[in-house]
Amino acid sequence: MPELPEVETIRRGLAGVLVGQKLLTCKGFTGSVRSGKMGGRVVGLRRFGKLLVIDFDNGESLAFHLRMTGQLIYRALTPSVSSSGPALIGSVAGGHPNKSFVGELPDKTTRAVFEFEKGVLFFNDQRKFGLFEFLPSLEVEKMPFVAKLGPEPWKMTVLELKKRLLRHKKSKIKAVLLDQTVMAGLGNIYADETLFLAGVHPERLAGDLNDDEIAKIIEGAKKSMEASLKSGGSSLRNYLRVDGSYGDYLTLFANVYGRAGERCKVCGEKIAKIKVAVRGTHFCPRCQRASKTVGGVAEVANKRRRK
Ligand SMILES: [Zn+2]
Repeated sequence: MPELPEVETIRRGLAGVLVGQKLLTCKGFTGSVRSGKMGGRVVGLRRFGKLLVIDFDNGESLAFHLRMTGQLIYRALTPSVSSSGPALIGSVAGGHPNKSFVGELPDKTTRAVFEFEKGVLFFNDQRKFGLFEFLPSLEVEKMPFVAKLGPEPWKMTVLELKKRLLRHKKSKIKAVLLDQTVMAGLGNIYADETLFLAGVHPERLAGDLNDDEIAKIIEGAKKSMEASLKSGGSSLRNYLRVDGSYGDYLTLFANVYGRAGERCKVCGEKIAKIKVAVRGTHFCPRCQRASKTVGGVAEVANKRRRK
């Protein structure tokens, strides 16, 4: 599922090719598209959590939410010949990584096609949970989804997160971190990576965390998403290797996600996988103790075992 770093990667990629271009036509393959919105030139791209917004100079915006399997793929009409590398020079692709990144388009997952002066933007979505809509630029921040978003980790303070965690004090921290109204940005992958970097067990209760742990969670969230951004997220660059094979971008930064049964990179313990709030959850049983306090459940159990 595309998460914040993936959406930010697409935002940067599309900004590089779309700004200055005029939108000529828009064809929705599922449902109709409001007409009369064409002709605006792209002035910039914004991101609100995982919502991606293209802004035009006529006061209109085009918002995308990729949800589970959404992708945005831009193909230049005249590929530039300056760069070396495999096929698809002049392309930008991001979101749910699969063969549509490199295949012929439109394909059976294509939901809408946006024609610009120098290229075509395809919105693909296999499972159809994603959405796009045209709306006045001034109304983007009033969309219910946007208005309810919590601050992103880069704007979060320990005090603010503590206050927000206490509203869910009996819930497991992993579940609370997935709640975008508490803190925006973390999906399943980065919630697991964040808790690993913070050394916090995913089943700890949100109300039991101390200030030091809350600070480490904010740092962990920033660090894990920045590592992904640096590696390019699930973009065409990481999907299609130079030799033409397909890559898994997670291997570039993941410490625990998708590594059940493999050795922890820090302590060598086997990474465990459990279910928390019906989501597959990966963690290191040694680096992320269930209870931090001496005399807690884990410590007592360990003492008994030693006797
Ligand atoms: Zn470990």
